[in-house]
Amino acid sequence: MNMAGFYDESISNGLGWRAVLFVSGCPHHCPGCHNQIAQDYNYGERFNKQEIIDRICKNSILKGITISGGEPLCKENIPEVLDFIKEVKKVRPNFNVWCYTGYTLEQLEERNDEVTNETLHNIDVLVDGRFVEEKKNPTLKFKGSENQRILDVHKCMAEHKIVQVSL
Ligand code: SF4
Repeated sequence: MNMAGFYDESISNGLGWRAVLFVSGCPHHCPGCHNQIAQDYNYGERFNKQEIIDRICKNSILKGITISGGEPLCKENIPEVLDFIKEVKKVRPNFNVWCYTGYTLEQLEERNDEVTNETLHNIDVLVDGRFVEEKKNPTLKFKGSENQRILDVHKCMAEHKIVQVSL
């Protein structure tokens, strides 16, 4: 997996101070994509898990990690994303994990494969759905278009319904 970028700390990619990893590669090709260059799987640099973990460990201000892209949950990226999240939780057990994806939660649940299921269990908040230019709204917090949802993944799964995070 390649990495399109990494922020050591940010308050614009989820609640609280968060490290943000942008993975490279996305199959969705949404018109008006905010990060078109990261749609290329070869963009950026080879993801070095240990280097990123070391940078996270050095920063005591952080409350969580956000994985964005690109598409973290496509079949090409998801195994390495899962491995990374598990490693982050080993060194920072109290971190909460946000993930941006162009898939909907329902599409991910329909896959019903081991890696996707385990990844969903390790994500706290999923910002789901493709970016839809016609539904773009710059006033929205932490998402780009009206169709996208900010989901409490654990509650969605436990209650078998869509539960959005109240901000
Ligand atoms: S899912 Fe995100 S990264 Fe992928 S094309 Fe759509 S807006 Fe761009």
